[in-house]
Amino acid sequence: MEKIAFFGLGNMGGPMAANLVKAGYRVAAFDLNSTALEQARRDGCTPCDSSVQAVDGAGIVISMLPSGEAVKGLYLGEEGLLQRLPANTLVIDCSTISAEDARLVAEAARERGLRAIDAPVSGGTAAAQAGSMCFMCGGEEAVIDAARAPLQAMGVKIFHAGAAGAGQVAKICNNLLLAIHMTGTAEALQLGVDKGLDPKVLSEIMTASSGNNWSLANYNPYPGAMENVPAANGYAGGFSVALMLKDLGLAMDAAATSASSTPMGALAKNLYQLHGASAENQPLDFSSIQNMFRRPAGG
Ligand code: NAD
Repeated sequence: MEKIAFFGLGNMGGPMAANLVKAGYRVAAFDLNSTALEQARRDGCTPCDSSVQAVDGAGIVISMLPSGEAVKGLYLGEEGLLQRLPANTLVIDCSTISAEDARLVAEAARERGLRAIDAPVSGGTAAAQAGSMCFMCGGEEAVIDAARAPLQAMGVKIFHAGAAGAGQVAKICNNLLLAIHMTGTAEALQLGVDKGLDPKVLSEIMTASSGNNWSLANYNPYPGAMENVPAANGYAGGFSVALMLKDLGLAMDAAATSASSTPMGALAKNLYQLHGASAENQPLDFSSIQNMFRRPAGG
């Protein structure tokens, strides 16, 4: 089976690489974090000491990195991977970054005779583990078709949003809405609890009613309302407040360049900024925004 070089083995990339191994791919993995590399070894990947070692003999390169700076650092410039990959190598960046950065990488790849797409994902860490993620792709149809087999090893839905960068536009629209319904869900749950309702019962009622949404039904932010979500585990793991703030920043930047009105997103970003102002909240899952609404004991 084909060899894949995989970069970024964090909350999402770790399980994604593990699913590629389960599908039969040989996965050479690289991360700056040695603990993540050790987990990748246990998952059946070959841990590598450098990005150059990882891409040796790989026909496909996949990245799942925290920022546009990390993605540009990996691929672009004199030392970047695009200078080293053989023509026709398939490059799939699954990180959430700006559409502009995604286009820069795609254009540099095209100039080098490589095939590249942006393919950011939705579904969270549970979907990354279950191999049930949704991919939002930007790039040429033929290249997206070539990427279907490895993407299907990690997810169930593959959308073609448009040309290079379009996957990123779809992703930031999705996460803008996610931040809005997560903060709204936390606000409504807290009102119910403050008025004496059981958050689990209130969640069941709203899930069966017109207030239903993904944050409420699949990723409930109120501790005790749902099992197997970050709220049931002290908000550890998942999708960090820091990463949500990054995505809301990308959404606000995008809105500024198209003169779009995003008042709900701006409010959600402000709430996450307040929440993230405490350094200890930054690595917590973004559903920890619930804590902003909770009254102190006896309050
Ligand atoms: P994370 O912080 O858990 O993991 C990122 C990993 O990348 C870390 O292990 C880090 O050491 C590694 N890394 C950083 N720079 C690197 C480099 N130059 N080379 C190799 N490794 C490098 O982040 P995550 O939650 O896995 O998110 C990754 C991306 O996926 C982000 O762009 C995020 O916005 C997006 N995303 C996350 C979720 C989620 O639920 N966590 C959902 C959808 C999309």
